Amino acid sequence: MKIGDVTITSIIERDGPWRKPADMFPAYDPAVGAKHLETLDPEVFDPATGMMNITYQTFVVRTPHHTILVDTCTGENKGYPAPMDFPKRRWLDEFAAAGLSFEAIDYVFCTHLHIDHCGWNTVLRDGRWVPTFPNAKYVFHRREYAAWEQATKEEKQPPGDVWRFNCEPIMVAGQGLLVDDDYSLDDTVWLTPTPGHSPCHCCVNISSGGQRAVVTGDLMHHALQCREPAWSTIFDWDAKQAAASRRRFLGDVAGTGTLILPIHFPNPTTGLVEAMGEGFDYRYVRDA
Ligand SMILES: [Zn+2]
Repeated sequence: MKIGDVTITSIIERDGPWRKPADMFPAYDPAVGAKHLETLDPEVFDPATGMMNITYQTFVVRTPHHTILVDTCTGENKGYPAPMDFPKRRWLDEFAAAGLSFEAIDYVFCTHLHIDHCGWNTVLRDGRWVPTFPNAKYVFHRREYAAWEQATKEEKQPPGDVWRFNCEPIMVAGQGLLVDDDYSLDDTVWLTPTPGHSPCHCCVNISSGGQRAVVTGDLMHHALQCREPAWSTIFDWDAKQAAASRRRFLGDVAGTGTLILPIHFPNPTTGLVEAMGEGFDYRYVRDA
C-alpha cells in the first residue's frame, strides 16, 4: 500500500480461523453478532468453524528516511504454550520476499508488549536473547515497559517470559528508546496513546502526501468491535478503558478517509471507518 511517499507492506506469521466470538468477547450477544456478520466483509469470519479469522502480522513501513517494523508477531524459540507455538518459517520467508534483511531495519515500534507483538524483537544466539535487528532502535512506551518489568518481577507476566525474552535484552544491548505519550519520530511517524488493552497501548500514525494511516495494534481484534465498541476481549488489561479508547478512536477517524491497519484483521486488512447507528462500520479498501 502507498501513502504519499510511504510504502506499507504486511508480513504474515499466521492467518485463518482462530477463535469463536463468544470465547473472545465476554459481552457477546449471538443474535446481535450474527446480524453484524451478515453485512461485514466475508473475509472476517469462517462460517464452517464459527470462528473469526484472525491474522498475526507485522507491518513494514518504508519512508524516504527509514525502514520501520511495527509489531513483530510471536517470534521463534520462545517456548510459548499452544496455540501460540505455530510454525515461524512463513514470517521469515515473507520478510525475505519483501526484499528486507535484518540489518536494513532502523526502527522497531511495538504498539504494546504482549506475546504476539514483540516476538521477533529478539532471537536466540548461543543461548542468549539478542536483538534480531542489529542496527535498529526499538521504540517502547516508557510506562508500558515499566508495567511489564514490574509484572515480571512479581511473576504476573502473561504466558511466556515476554519481558525477559523480548524487551529487557533490547535495553541491555543499548538499542531501546523509552518514549512518552507524545513521541514523534519525525513528521511522518508518531504515536498516540490508546490505553486499555494493555497499560500504555499506542497507535502508530503515518502521514505523507496529505494521506493518513494508523496501525491500531490491538485496539480492536475484529471488525465486530467497530459495530459494538463496548465488546472488549478477554485479553484486555482494563476492559472499560479499552472500550473507551476504541470508541474515542473510531469517532475520531470515522468519515475522515484515514486508512486503518489493525494487526489482527485478515487480508486485505486495511479499511475505512464510517459512523453506523450507535457504532461504526469497518469496510475493507481493496485497491489501496
Ligand atoms: Zn495481539
